[in-house]
Amino acid sequence: MTILTILHYPDSTLRKTSLLVDPKDATIPGLIADMFETLAIDGIGLAAPQVDVLKRVVVIDLGSDQDIPPFALINPEICWCSERTVPYSNGCLSLPGVYADVVRPEEIEVKYLDENFNQHHLKANDLLAVCIQHEIDHLDGKLFIDHLSKLKREVLIRKFVKKTQRSTELP
Ligand SMILES: [Zn+2]
Repeated sequence: MTILTILHYPDSTLRKTSLLVDPKDATIPGLIADMFETLAIDGIGLAAPQVDVLKRVVVIDLGSDQDIPPFALINPEICWCSERTVPYSNGCLSLPGVYADVVRPEEIEVKYLDENFNQHHLKANDLLAVCIQHEIDHLDGKLFIDHLSKLKREVLIRKFVKKTQRSTELP
């Protein structure tokens, strides 16, 4: 397994729409294994475009304090979401070090294929619903900062750029 390089904002690949995965695509099991390995270092969710692969694949690992074992979603699709919305703090491996509250539907239902291409239908709320919606956004070239007001987004980007400059200036 390989630890993959995560693309950071403003890489243009993060803005592209990922393609549906063909069940005959033999690269998928290896990609999923590498994505889990990469996610094990940090984070709770990772989408394939963040590792420069424009395919509709997501891995989620909420950690051992949650009751949900790590799982992969291929071609995920939200088929229902609640009218009720909630704010939830979002962070992103492609924008390390900055966080903001994003308002999203509180509850969702998602259809997806697992790594063996078996179909699943899952109802999710709380952190899992936030994470799935955040990752599916990546498959459509969207970042969590796009949900914020222009002013909030600009403040966050400035903060991110400053942090990045500071870390590259270190000896
Ligand atoms: Zn993200």
